[in-house]
Amino acid sequence: MIVADRKPIQEILDMLGDCEKLLIVGCNACVAICMAGGEKEVSELASLVKIAKKKQGKPIEITEQVTERQCEEEFVKEIESEIKGHDIILSMACGIGVQLIAKMYEGKLVYPALNPKFMGLPEEQGQWTETCAGCGDCRLADFGGICHIARCSKSLLNGPCGGSVDGKCEVDPDNIDCAWQLIYDRMKLLGQLDKLLKIEPAKSWKTSRDGGPRKVIRQDVRE
Ligand code: SF4
Ligand code: SF4
Repeated sequence: MIVADRKPIQEILDMLGDCEKLLIVGCNACVAICMAGGEKEVSELASLVKIAKKKQGKPIEITEQVTERQCEEEFVKEIESEIKGHDIILSMACGIGVQLIAKMYEGKLVYPALNPKFMGLPEEQGQWTETCAGCGDCRLADFGGICHIARCSKSLLNGPCGGSVDGKCEVDPDNIDCAWQLIYDRMKLLGQLDKLLKIEPAKSWKTSRDGGPRKVIRQDVRE
């Protein structure tokens, strides 16, 4: 899932300027699961903005809405009348949701209330960890199902580096497991340690973001 967190309230207030009538739109998918942009967070942000504006002596009228998925037109269309009735929309989705509303309603100002961070895994209540960097050429099959691109702090293709101590990463030994230690342990468990003897050649990053905005086209499901 895409993991995000909310921007600082002052940054949001600065974006809104003298806005007097605002629509806040959340998303019930990833950002609701990571507790950044679902119904509850929309309501909390609306209250925070109202209180801050009242203190400034500039009251604001706020409408709250939540889309099922803000990254799909059909769900955004469900709140079209609200969007059309507002000039400024504060989106609590990831950047995909913000950009979709901006694309669908050209004359509207759409501001992001969140900072999308990464693709990650919910590990425990209130903790999400980056596990995939979307490199476009998934090699999990060769590394015991543990990603060396996203989970090694240096994205090493051949690891570990010299800084791995007791299975911890030198970048932050208290909080980061050495991905290459994890890979080694899993490969050992799977009886595939011999695979790690092969020197991994330089990776082609053409499939990653370095090749410009990426597209997936599935002719078989296109109409
Ligand atoms: S190898 Fe690439 S696609 Fe696979 S999990 Fe890692 S970053 Fe994601
Ligand atoms: S200690 Fe391990 S995870 Fe950290 S940079 Fe070195 S190889 Fe990567």
